[in-house]
Amino acid sequence: MGSDIDGVLAHNTDNMGSDQSVALVTDPLQIMRIRDNCNPDNTFGMVRNAGTKAHQGWDLEARLNTPVYAIADGTIEFVEEHDGGDYGKQICLKFVYGGNLTYYAFYAHLSQIYVSTGQEVHQGNEIGLTGNTGNASNLPAGQEHLHFEIRTIPHPGLGLGGRVSPMVLVGPHALSCPAYDHGGDLGQKQDAAF
Ligand SMILES: [Zn+2]
Repeated sequence: MGSDIDGVLAHNTDNMGSDQSVALVTDPLQIMRIRDNCNPDNTFGMVRNAGTKAHQGWDLEARLNTPVYAIADGTIEFVEEHDGGDYGKQICLKFVYGGNLTYYAFYAHLSQIYVSTGQEVHQGNEIGLTGNTGNASNLPAGQEHLHFEIRTIPHPGLGLGGRVSPMVLVGPHALSCPAYDHGGDLGQKQDAAF
C-alpha cells in the first residue's frame, strides 16, 4: 500500500530508505535496440559459436557518431583514446547502484570521447559518440553499434567474469526490437540474454 508506482521511473535520487528511492540507471543510447534485428548473438552470455564463445555485453545498434550518455551519476574510471585492440576507443564509468553496489558502465568502439579519467558526470550527460574503432572497424553499414557492458570490476579479463548482463540494471527493453522494428519478434529473444 502507498506505493508510488507512477513515480518509480522518475526517481533518480541518492536517498536512502525504501527500495523505490534508490538510484536507477538510464539508457546509454536514445534508441535501444540489439544489433542485427535483435540477434541473440549480440546479447550477453555464451551466445556465440553455438554456445561456446562469450559476448561480454550488448551490441546496440547505432549509426556512426550517435551520442552516448552516462547511465548514472558517477566518475569516469578510465578512458582509452587509442583506437586499438578489440574495443577501440572506450569509456568506463564508475557508479553506485541501489545505494551501495558499485558497477562500471563500459562503452566501446567509440569515435569521440568527451570526458577524461576522474571526471564527475551526471546521469544523461553526453559523454561521447559511437564509432567503429577496435574490432568493429570492418563491419558493414547497418551493423555499426555501441558495445556496452555492465562490469563489477573495472578491468575484467576474457569471458564473462567481472560482468553481468546489462539487462539486470538497464532492463530488457533493448531485446525486444520495439517501435523501430516492423518485423515482430516482440519479447521472444529475452531468454537469450542469460
Ligand atoms: Zn560486442
